[in-house]
Amino acid sequence: MEVILTIVSALFGSAIGSFLNVCIDRLPTGRSLLYPPSHCETCQHPLSPKDLIPVFSYLWLRRRCRYCQAPIPLRPFWVEVGSAFLFAFTYWHYGLSVDFAVVAFYGCLFIVLGVIDLEHELILNKIVYPVAVVALVISIFRPPPGIIDISLPWPLLGMVNGVIGGAIGFVFLLIPLLIYPKGMGWGDVKMAGLIGLVTGSRLVLVALLMGVILGGLVAGILLLLKIKKRKEAIPFGPFLSLATMATLIWGSGILNWYLGLF
Ligand SMILES: [Zn+2]
Repeated sequence: MEVILTIVSALFGSAIGSFLNVCIDRLPTGRSLLYPPSHCETCQHPLSPKDLIPVFSYLWLRRRCRYCQAPIPLRPFWVEVGSAFLFAFTYWHYGLSVDFAVVAFYGCLFIVLGVIDLEHELILNKIVYPVAVVALVISIFRPPPGIIDISLPWPLLGMVNGVIGGAIGFVFLLIPLLIYPKGMGWGDVKMAGLIGLVTGSRLVLVALLMGVILGGLVAGILLLLKIKKRKEAIPFGPFLSLATMATLIWGSGILNWYLGLF
């Protein structure tokens, strides 16, 4: 039964993934998410239901538009596969629970933020601001881990932990931005605030430090292999996204392991 439900979660995730692709395609240019319906970007032909089966249509059509044979970009496929994996893994890890819903929701959010930053070097306010409000509401019902044990009445506890986390995250990336403005942008700083709100004050630095280390490692490798030049910017959002998801799932374990080293 568990296996069947994990597969169902994966299929559901891949369908969510096709919606995330629509968000990634349309939000940066301000187009509507609902209209026009999905179409080929080359010949504008509307796609029929059989062209829109997540993951499988892609393999079945061999990456080509059914109508004009133009190659279809690779990203939609990977976003669908990634979302399928996200839902299958979070279901398997948490079971059918509030944690599953919340972590899967944040996973979708960080896929959209990360991929848009990767493609456009942009972190969109119109995603960050509304999600910050949603994260604040979620923190009331599912308080993120706090930095100190404070006893506050519901609904303050979760909100206070989230807001302190957001402030720590914001300041943590604001300082390097002020010292060296070319290194990153305001988008990264706001995203760090959102990450603090999501992970809570106890784990926000776990997420941000992991993102910095991951980004630094990949940037170093790209420089060594001469794929990127020293002056070229490398978007930070995808690394922050990955690190935040790892922190949401394993953060307490990672922090305890790190503190155990001393
Ligand atoms: Zn076409």
